[in-house]
Amino acid sequence: MRFAVVSKGDTKSNALTDKMMNYMLGMDMVLDEKSPEIVVSVGGDGTLLQAFHRYQHIVSDVSFVGVHTGHLGFYADWGQDEVERLIMALKNDDFEVVEYPLVEVMIHYDKVGMETKYLALNEATLRMTNGSTLVMDVDIRNRHFERFRGDGLCISTPSGSTAYNKALGGAIIHPSIEAVQMTEIASINNRVFRTVGSPLVLPKHHFVNVRPVNSEEYQMTIDHVNLVHKGVKSIQFSVAEEKIRFARFRPFPFWQRVHDSFIS
Ligand code: NAP
Ligand code: MN
Repeated sequence: MRFAVVSKGDTKSNALTDKMMNYMLGMDMVLDEKSPEIVVSVGGDGTLLQAFHRYQHIVSDVSFVGVHTGHLGFYADWGQDEVERLIMALKNDDFEVVEYPLVEVMIHYDKVGMETKYLALNEATLRMTNGSTLVMDVDIRNRHFERFRGDGLCISTPSGSTAYNKALGGAIIHPSIEAVQMTEIASINNRVFRTVGSPLVLPKHHFVNVRPVNSEEYQMTIDHVNLVHKGVKSIQFSVAEEKIRFARFRPFPFWQRVHDSFIS
């Protein structure tokens, strides 16, 4: 079993990382930071996002595990006191793999043939870089849907629906549902300008395209990563072909995680 560990970088997470590494190496597991089969993230959900982006080029070959050193997370759902059990299970191949959907973001530029693809585990958001109103024509399945005016748009995965999406009034979507959700960030709605106002949940193969009305400079976030794009012709959001895989060692139902994180 080839493994890698990604630490949040604080003292507590680094200490637990060292402890786990020694334990795993002592069990003849192989540290392979280039092409691991298992990636353990130690910290929080944000650490798992970082681990995902570090290994997204080999995402179909990797299974992720998240250990939390702060509060319980959605991805980081193993406690520090459980790591021995977790490592034993890894060593003995005693786990199941579950797959969660990702968002694919495809940016097409004015320059013909130029495009960039991104994968998001939580969400992608789009705003103006200068804080002014984002104006975008929104097409769904190549038909014009609305002209959006507002602070921005957020397109989230089911597992990301408990993150920023939730703060925007989006629904919590079970990760077994292959869908993406688009939520508005402070849309302008009055007698002149109109948007749908509700979050939209789109199934696989239903592409949302946003096209600039006046080409400007856009700020896009892909999870925790911030990027600026110029010369954008259109941006397409959809359920990605790729999925993220998580190693599951014990049942911890999604709705239980929702309860434990938000209710008590
Ligand atoms: P951060 O500012 O530390 O993250 C904000 C919070 O979101 C943290 O408590 C983080 O948990 C939690 N979180 C991350 N993924 C989650 C998920 N799938 N479900 C529920 N909570 C989740 O920054 P970060 O750790 O780098 O995470 C980036 C994410 O922050 C973005 O993808 C976005 O979803 C979220 N965010 C939320 C808001 C908001 O709610 N208003 C605003 C901006 C960004 P940990 O403490 O365990 O890391
Ligand atoms: Mn964080």
